[in-house]
Amino acid sequence: CGIFAYLNYNVGRERRYILEVLLNGLRRLEYRGYDSSGIAIDSDMSSVMQSKSKPYDTAPPVVFRQEGKIESLVTSVYSEVDKLDLDLEKPFLVHAGIAHTRWATHGVPAPRNSHPQSSGEFDEFLVVHNGIITNYEVLKQTLVRHGFTFESDTDTEVIPKLAKFVFDKASDGEGGVTFSQVVMEVMRQLEGAYALIFKSPHYPNELIACKRGSTLLLGVNELGGETSRHLFHDVKALTANDKPKELFFSSDLCAIVEHTKNYAAVEDDEIVHIKDGSVSILKFDYEKEKPASVQRALSV
Ligand code: GLU
Repeated sequence: CGIFAYLNYNVGRERRYILEVLLNGLRRLEYRGYDSSGIAIDSDMSSVMQSKSKPYDTAPPVVFRQEGKIESLVTSVYSEVDKLDLDLEKPFLVHAGIAHTRWATHGVPAPRNSHPQSSGEFDEFLVVHNGIITNYEVLKQTLVRHGFTFESDTDTEVIPKLAKFVFDKASDGEGGVTFSQVVMEVMRQLEGAYALIFKSPHYPNELIACKRGSTLLLGVNELGGETSRHLFHDVKALTANDKPKELFFSSDLCAIVEHTKNYAAVEDDEIVHIKDGSVSILKFDYEKEKPASVQRALSV
């Protein structure tokens, strides 16, 4: 399948533009999988989606999932946007969107099996996945024992639910846990091959990607288009002071090259954390990274 993400940082982009970048990314990746597709973008606080009881203060994500070719997702997105009263001209100074085109391994093509897969109510964690989780059954049984209900037949659904489980346990009375700590703990539990991108309203405007086995590229752009092609020669040498204006993840270069020529391959066991426009690349090293609270999270 194909996964794709687009984050604009400190460059105002209208919802219409953000949607087009995500949907075009999927059009480029469609050769990799075309039984279903989906995207997640942000709503805004004034939107009809707002719910008083949601467990975070930020804008809830809006998730679109559709069976069939990318063009059927495109059609459904634009009709839903109208129905949901989401303003296509609304600008977002910062916005992180994720997208997926599926080639099913577990579960028939259907909207509920399409990605992004969700942690459940309020979409606290959303995940797009390329690959197969071989130990998903055992993880699913554990999560069901802890009260999670599953809506899809995918192997992928354990991943966002595991993230919520880790997040809830780790933040329980202990203060903050970072997005990368959550993902690190999730990764420790997963067996199989995967490239993953995580989005969460608990960590607004952040994205995390990681991989083992499957291919994943990171692209960065200062301004977009021609002007910035030479600014970031070595994507992996970016420091916290470098603030690219646009960042992309993609399963294939063909969905990035129209935006930037600055890209790098994410290596196995790397966790790429985009926060405040900066890119940090952590190497999966569970013993070193885990805080005590996360360490306890799954030992219940
Ligand atoms: N194994 C996942 C699923 O069946 C991902 C498949 C893919 O890579 O498209 O949903």
